[in-house]
This record gives sequence, C-alpha cells and structure tokens, in this order.
Amino acid sequence: MELKPIHSNHFVSNFLVALCYAVAALLWILLVPSIIGDDPELTVIDRTLQLSGDVVIVLFGIHHLTLRTIFHSRHKTFHKGVTTRFDRHFHGLIDEMPANVAIISIDGHYKYWSQAFHNNIMRELSNEEISAIDLFAEDYVSLQLDGHPFPDEERPLIRAMKSGEKITDVTMGLACGQNVWTWVGSTITPRKDDDGEIVDFICSFQLISDVHNVETNLTIQTFQDRLTGLPNRVFFAELVSRAIFMMAKRNSRIGVLFIDVNRFKILNDTLGHQMGDLLLVQIAKRIRSAIRQGDTIARLGGDEFAVLFEELDNLGDAVFVSDWIKNTFEDPFSLDGEECYMTCSQGLAVSNRSDITSTELIRDAEVAMYRAKTKGTDTLEIYDESMNEQTREQLKIENEMRHALQRNEFLVYYQPLITLTTGKIGGWEALVRWKHPERGLVPPIEFINLAEETGLIIPIGTWVLEEACRQARSWQLKFPAYSESIMNVNLSMRQFQQPNLTERVLETLKKQGLEPQYLKLEITESATMKDASTSLAIMTALKSSKIHLAIDDFGTDYSSLSYLKRLPVDTLKIDKSFVDGLGLDHESTAIVEAITSLAKALNMKVTAEGIENADQLVHLRKLGCDIGQGYLFSRPMPAEDAEKMLKQDITW
Ligand code: C2E
Ligand code: MG
Ligand code: MG
Repeated sequence: MELKPIHSNHFVSNFLVALCYAVAALLWILLVPSIIGDDPELTVIDRTLQLSGDVVIVLFGIHHLTLRTIFHSRHKTFHKGVTTRFDRHFHGLIDEMPANVAIISIDGHYKYWSQAFHNNIMRELSNEEISAIDLFAEDYVSLQLDGHPFPDEERPLIRAMKSGEKITDVTMGLACGQNVWTWVGSTITPRKDDDGEIVDFICSFQLISDVHNVETNLTIQTFQDRLTGLPNRVFFAELVSRAIFMMAKRNSRIGVLFIDVNRFKILNDTLGHQMGDLLLVQIAKRIRSAIRQGDTIARLGGDEFAVLFEELDNLGDAVFVSDWIKNTFEDPFSLDGEECYMTCSQGLAVSNRSDITSTELIRDAEVAMYRAKTKGTDTLEIYDESMNEQTREQLKIENEMRHALQRNEFLVYYQPLITLTTGKIGGWEALVRWKHPERGLVPPIEFINLAEETGLIIPIGTWVLEEACRQARSWQLKFPAYSESIMNVNLSMRQFQQPNLTERVLETLKKQGLEPQYLKLEITESATMKDASTSLAIMTALKSSKIHLAIDDFGTDYSSLSYLKRLPVDTLKIDKSFVDGLGLDHESTAIVEAITSLAKALNMKVTAEGIENADQLVHLRKLGCDIGQGYLFSRPMPAEDAEKMLKQDITW
C-alpha cells in the first residue's frame, strides 16, 4: 500500500494565484476609468465605488493568498492528525489481517504488526520483545540467502531508507530473536508525508516455506536444520566465530555447551526413523525452553545439540542452564502414545581467548561431553586442557586398535580355574591381550573401555570367543582327562546387548565344534542389573541353549536380590577386592561369607577371584567356595604355557 502526499507543490500554485489577482487588480485600475471615463456626471459616490473596487480586489488577492497559506498549514496539521488516526485504525485493521504485515518506524522499531506476523514470523517473542528489536542497531543481523549477514549498506530497510523507493521481494533471514531467523520474502514500502519525507515503512513478508521455492529452500537447508528449524553445524560454527569476534571487542567470555542424547541410536534403530525424528523435535523444543533469552541453540546433527552463550561473565550461568536442560529430560517423551525416558550427556567449554577458533571451541565442548558420556550418567563435564591430551591419546589408541584386528595383534591368555574340592583345573578364563608393536603387551584395562565406547569391542569380542572356543575344543581332544573343563569368556555390556546374541554364540560354538555346556559367559554385575528385565530375557535364551552364565565382579555393584533369584545364573564370581581382605578385615570377610551362603541358597556356584595366598585359599575352602582363580595358582598365560600345565596335571 502507498500513500500519495496531498498538495505537493504549494508554493508554485499560490504564487500563480496571487499573480492572477494582481493582474486582475491592475486591469481594473487601468480599465475602469476608461469605461467610466472622466464623466463630469459621475457623483462622488461613483468615484468612491471605483476606488474601493480597486482596493477590494487587491485586498481580496492578499486575503486569498493569506487564506491559502493558513489553509495549507492547517491542512498539514489536519493531514498529520488524519495520518495518526489512520495509523491507529490501520493498526486495528492489520492486527486482524491474515497477511504478515508490520509497520516499522523511522528509528527502526516495529510499530504495529499483524497477528499473523507475530504467529508466523516472530513466534518465539512476546509483543514487548518485538517492540524492543532495534533494526538499526549495530548487532542486529539479518541474513542473506548464503547465510551471511547483509552488509549494513545492503540491508533492505536501509536501502529503502536511503533511496526512498519501494524494495520488493528480497529473500532474507529475518531476525526473530537472538540468532533465530525466519526465512521470508519481504517487500518494504517507505510511507512519506506531504513534503516527501519518509514517515515510516510498511512491510509485508511471505514465508519462504509457503512459496515452495525449491531452490531457495535447498539453499536455506545448507545452514538450517530441516527437521527442527535450528541452525545446523556449519551455521553454528559461523555464529560461534561471530561471537568470538564480538567477545574480543567486549573483552568478555563465551561458552559452548555440547549436548548428546544418550541411547538415541538404539531407540532410532528399534523404533524407526520417523519416531526418532519425532523425538528429536520434542528434544529441540525442550532444550529451547530451558535456555535464556540471548542464548543460541543449534542442532549439530543426529542426536547432538549445542548452545552458544555469549557474554558469559559467570560460569555458573552456563551450569545453571545445563541443569535446566537436564531437568527438561525428566518427564517422559511421548512417541505415538508410548512414553519413553531419555537422558543426555553434556560438555561445556568456555573461553576468553580471541585467537581460539569456533572449531576448537566446539571440539573442546565435545571432548568434555565425551568424558561425561564415559562416566555413564547424565552429568555435565567442563572442559579442561588435560582432557585434550587424553582424548588425543585415546584417538590414537582407537585408530591403532582398528588396525590391530587386521594385523592379528590380539592374543588370548588363559588363567586356570581350580575346582577347590579336588584341587584340579576345572576350567579356564580367556583374557584378551594386545601385542602392540611399540608398547609391548597391553593389558585389557588399557583398551577394553575404549573398545566398548567405540563399538570395537564387538569384532574384538567375537574374535576372542572364536579363539577361546577353538582352543577349548583342541584341549578337549588333546587332554581327555580335562574333557569336562569349561572355558569362561567375558562379555562386555555392548556385546551382551547385541541383537541375536544367542544365535551368534551358538554359531561360533558350532563352527569350532564345542558343545554349549563347555562354555561359560561372564557378564559383569553392572551389565546384568542395568536393564534387569532385558537381561533376564537374554540370559534365559542363552541358558536354554545350555550355555553357562556367571556374574563377574559380584559385590561391586548393587544387585536386586529379587532379580538375582530369577536370573538363570550358574555362578557368582566374588570380586578380588573382597578376597583381598579375607581374614584380614571383618567387612570383606563378612561379605565373602554372605555371598557364599547366598549362592548356595540360590543354588549357584561361587568362584573366588584373585586368590594370592594360601591363607585365603584355606579360608575359602572352609567356607565351601567352589572354584578358585588367582596368582596363587597361576597368572594368565599364553596357550602354549597353559598346555604345559595341563600336561603336568597339577593338583593344588
Ligand atoms: P575379569 O574378568 O574380572 O578378569 C579377572 C582379572 O583379574 C584378570 O585381569 C586377571 O588377570 C586378574 N587376576 C586374576 N587373578 C588375580 C590375582 O590373583 N591378582 C591380581 N592382581 N589379579 C588377578 P586382566 O586379564 O587384566 O583383565 C581385566 C579385565 O578385563 C577382566 O576382568 C575383564 O573384565 C576384562 N577382559 C579381559 N579380557 C576380556 C575380553 O576378552 N572381553 C571382555 N569384554 N573383557 C575382557
Ligand atoms: Mg571375567
Ligand atoms: Mg572379575
């Protein structure tokens, strides 16, 4: 809509009118005497009339001129009044309009806007927040189609201001909050007063998503996450760079919070991607509800989100927001009527270094998040420099571990398990080792956790199982006296949760020619109790295939006794830490005794780990412990040495 100024050229028109009157008066003065003549008959009255006619015409001319001037100035005031009233009416009118319309004042603030504009474009903001936006402010950013801000001179509003011309159909990311943009096609029309001065701007916006412009939409997708509408990783990095730049100017600090949703991949794989998407949208919404005005949230990809804190003077503020985010995960998410509980791991990196890059800062936050994840709880970890060193080291090991499998650098060591009633070898525990080309023999404690985190435990564990089964079968054939020995193999949490675990294990057994009753799988107490009902199902399936099951490191975690009773477990392995104190400290002794009697009551066998001296052995035998394992008998050893031990047929 364009309003045309009324009476634009008053001076010229008034001058012309005055000129006409002056000419008329002159003609009257010149011509009237010649019409009337010097007629001696003319009375004084006639002559007075003639003169007054002249005066009247001149006066009328002056009067007209004055009137017009007065009228004009009144008209201006009148016009102004009309404009203001018009605005008010217009406001009422546009409020109801289905179109996205707004009036921007000459000082760059939204003056009036339609409800549609509020709902569609400024949906995150309140009326007060919209009014507070300063479109001419230095830090106000509107985006070009390539995701970069418009240079000041090229901002559509400034162009309209400078040229006084209507600016049509500019595609732009219109700022609708701190680092939040809505993509629109916009038209800006300057509204002018009678003197041609701009009064304000009438703006109309069309949502890009409504225009169905595939090309434009595709371009936007390169920096905006399609699913949640949040900035994506590329764009987030850009925002962090900008924040670093501003930080240097302001001499403040900024922070990046990295958020990773725990167990999302499992859920996505089991429930399908559609449900996964639904969940991500809900998560984005909840995180957004937890952050403060001025913080920016982005989706970095998959189940990873990030929050940017600009001007972070107080570290506690970021921790507070992180806590809020964690709290928003407390209520269940609703997926097609099903409730599901999720948690997240968070890492925070804060910096005041102007030479830090956005990539470094985001990576630091990710490193801290990674650390939080390895702790296994939904906690926040704050980045410190030493983490980088450790992570670099871990990355190196991870890389080497990938190659180790192909290069056959893994070995299985065997440690004998002694049947305490007979003193004979009743079985073996297979324990993996890594023969590293530079570091020598690496114990599992240095790589199993990392293998578990990275998923490499699956191929490594599969190989160990194959190798141990092959070895067990080979010894069965070579040493008939030990044909009833059982081979124990450790299963990590991730292996334990593998789909079709039972089928895979049975396949391996079949391939190596070992009967299932000669294999015992050791699962840690924490893995079995994590998701007790799922564990019960997996263990029942394994048990029904005649595979034996042991709970490893028993006593180190919390076991629900009612579940323990239902689990089809054959053996409890008492953790070494309790055996250490056996006979020495009252508490450990009491625990070993309690576990032994508990196992008996539940009809399970007991294995004591880490027996190092004869006193411990005597004590355990007295308690009726079934199986013993420890350096007292033998350290774990290569297969050849184990074979020698079988040949010797030792009795302890
Ligand atoms: P674990 O399953 O509890 O294995 C027993 C650990 O105790 C072994 O350590 C063994 O060498 C050690 N040990 C046995 N007797 C004694 C003793 O008298 N004194 C002392 N100080 N230690 C003793 P190792 O071989 O270093 O294995 C550590 C852990 O690594 C294992 O604990 C197990 O949880 C894990 N692990 C080992 N091999 C594998 C594997 O193939 N797969 C999986 N998932 N985990 C494995
Ligand atoms: Mg074990
Ligand atoms: Mg153990």
